[in-house]
Amino acid sequence: MSHLSKYAHVILPLALNGYTYAVPLHLQDKVQVGSLVRVPLGKNRSYIGVVSELPAQVDAAIQYKRIDALVYDAPVVSQLQLQLWQWMSVYYCCTLGDVLKAALPSLLLHGTYAPQKEVYVRKVEGQAQVKRAQQISLLQRFEELLAEGEVKKSELLDGQSLSALQTLIKHGVLECYEKETSRIKSQPPQMAMPTLSDAQQVAKQEIDAAFEQKDKVLLHGVTASGKTEIYLQKICEVVERGGQVLFLVPEIALTSQLANRMRKVLGGLMIEYHSQASDTIRAEVYMQLLQNKNVQVVLGTRSSVFLPFTNLQLVIVDEEHETSYKQYDPTPRYHAKNVALMLAHFAGAKTLLGSATPAVETYAQVQQGKYGCVSLTERYGQTLLPEIKLIDREDAFKKNRMKDMFSWYLLEKMQEALASGEQVILFQNRRGFSSHVACPSCGYVPKCPHCDVSLTYHKKTNRLACHYCGYTMDAPIACPSCGTEGLKDKGFGTEKIIEVLQKYFPDAKAERLDVDAVQSRKVYEGILERFASGETQILVGTQMVAKGLDFDHVGLVGILNADNMINFPDFRATERAFQLMVQVSGRAGRREKQGLVVLQTAQLDHYVLPSVVAQDYAAFYQNELQERADFQYPPFVRLVEIQVKHAQFDKADAVARELAQGLEHSLGIAILDPGAALVSRVNNRYVRQLMLKLKGAAINERIELMQQVAALKKRYPQVQISIDVDPV
Ligand code: ADP
Ligand code: ZN
Repeated sequence: MSHLSKYAHVILPLALNGYTYAVPLHLQDKVQVGSLVRVPLGKNRSYIGVVSELPAQVDAAIQYKRIDALVYDAPVVSQLQLQLWQWMSVYYCCTLGDVLKAALPSLLLHGTYAPQKEVYVRKVEGQAQVKRAQQISLLQRFEELLAEGEVKKSELLDGQSLSALQTLIKHGVLECYEKETSRIKSQPPQMAMPTLSDAQQVAKQEIDAAFEQKDKVLLHGVTASGKTEIYLQKICEVVERGGQVLFLVPEIALTSQLANRMRKVLGGLMIEYHSQASDTIRAEVYMQLLQNKNVQVVLGTRSSVFLPFTNLQLVIVDEEHETSYKQYDPTPRYHAKNVALMLAHFAGAKTLLGSATPAVETYAQVQQGKYGCVSLTERYGQTLLPEIKLIDREDAFKKNRMKDMFSWYLLEKMQEALASGEQVILFQNRRGFSSHVACPSCGYVPKCPHCDVSLTYHKKTNRLACHYCGYTMDAPIACPSCGTEGLKDKGFGTEKIIEVLQKYFPDAKAERLDVDAVQSRKVYEGILERFASGETQILVGTQMVAKGLDFDHVGLVGILNADNMINFPDFRATERAFQLMVQVSGRAGRREKQGLVVLQTAQLDHYVLPSVVAQDYAAFYQNELQERADFQYPPFVRLVEIQVKHAQFDKADAVARELAQGLEHSLGIAILDPGAALVSRVNNRYVRQLMLKLKGAAINERIELMQQVAALKKRYPQVQISIDVDPV
């Protein structure tokens, strides 16, 4: 036999690329690329890893350790997956081990996954005599069930005697056997779909035509244009010809409406995959795909790019502009949209990106002719886009026309909307320094003792919390600095808004939708249901209300403060602000009547506002692209953010400088002196930050960067260095 594998390179779930091992004789015809194996490491540690290569040549001078065992007979990782992992480790400057940890469900990685088995009953040849009534009855029932297919023991025993079954088994009439079954409950599909509107039909045909030319197409459809129905048509086409579809969504909790819609059409052909699913279910989904068991569509969040697709033909990235596609911690700090594009590329599949407010980088690809683009400019059912009205907060304040966080104008419009039975959504950005407390007398702001950030006030618990390290403390009664009692809410969080609303609209029921309020999908769905049914009239929320919600009776949307979005210190702040404001505005408007958006701002002359008011993406894009060109930001460069952390400021700074010089020298690019990160101290460690601007996706630069970082880590083991490619 010539297929014996004598050596195997194994990726281990550690911050390294893996090691080569010798394959023991009895496994040489079984170990393959993609096999899960148990291997020894160091003196007495043992890990499960994935075979990535079977090298024919090895260094004869090295005494390789031996693989201990094969965990599953069949490989669990495909060549396609390994190819993607390889690309990720270079592009995102991490190790293959880092990728492995993110990619494989933990039960597989720990070798503890076992398929669920169900016991069945079958007949044995050569029958014995059966006389007792209970046994006859059981056998009759058995024959009935057999007519419908294989007989489950549990079903057979429903209403029958266990001892009769045991006797029949003992006498060799029947026998039990086990079969693997799925832990995932599913419904049959009902492929019935609504007919597309003319505009949707045209868009669908344009997408098909664009796919003839290009592998990647952007569906740029205004809010409520009915992108979901178009996706569903595309999905069904692929499903009918036996292919697989990956449908990526930013956050599963925020997509209940979409998931329900898809489940109705696709039933058991669709499976959901996300981090809120249990470890067992995640492993089960993985194995079902691996074994190619009737699952054809995966609806999932970013980690579903790691699933073992065998016949992937279409990838859909919904709300492609969303930043939650980016994994920040732990490494690999990947952007699931980019990984999905690569996955599709390697698999020979098409990618459809959808958004009402595409990312600037995506639109730049369209402009350069790399992606196809299809526009859908009308809402489904001819509903009008809302009217957006700007309110000058500063001016209203001066003229005494503000009450708490509301302008008189907004209060009046809310009054009108509620009186005519319409619902209201109020949006308050969570980012920005909105819910900090300050002493009314000396201005003291409580800060986290471990991080360089102000603490956030949580009314429910009456505690102050750090959103970076999790530190919390009781809200002080008196100012620790000057002793004045009564620290005041400086800005306004969603909790505060709800409280204030009771003052102005005592008869209206308001609920909030934010990260604090939504700890589980159930709670989230409850809030949505009460709003959809009209039980609540006002929904107050953060970013979450901007995401893909579809309600019929929202006449008014209030954006309470545009400024903390616009002013956020990040080159993407304007883009985010535009996207959020347009998305949130998209929730307003009903079939028969145009909706209204009241946008309160103190920066009436900011360049982004006219394009928001006109809901004019092209105008926004032109302005924004110019800004990006002027300051050399993406899409003109690719950013790599490097953070160096140490308990001593000087140490962190010195290592950051050394790295900057080293990289400047070897990459020949100018690097600004290391500066403080946005939060300059986290968990008692100082954070110094470097920003590299790379011109392309070249891998040499990335490899050089990884090597220099690895060398520094070796020399300064106490210093933490992290690399974030394409930070968002
Ligand atoms: P988008 O994702 O583009 O914002 P949706 O897919 O949520 O828009 O569609 C907006 C609304 O229009 C939803 O209530 C959806 O059910 C409805 N809708 C869209 N297309 C159709 C169609 N072809 N037939 C019936 N209803 C549709
Ligand atoms: Zn902290």
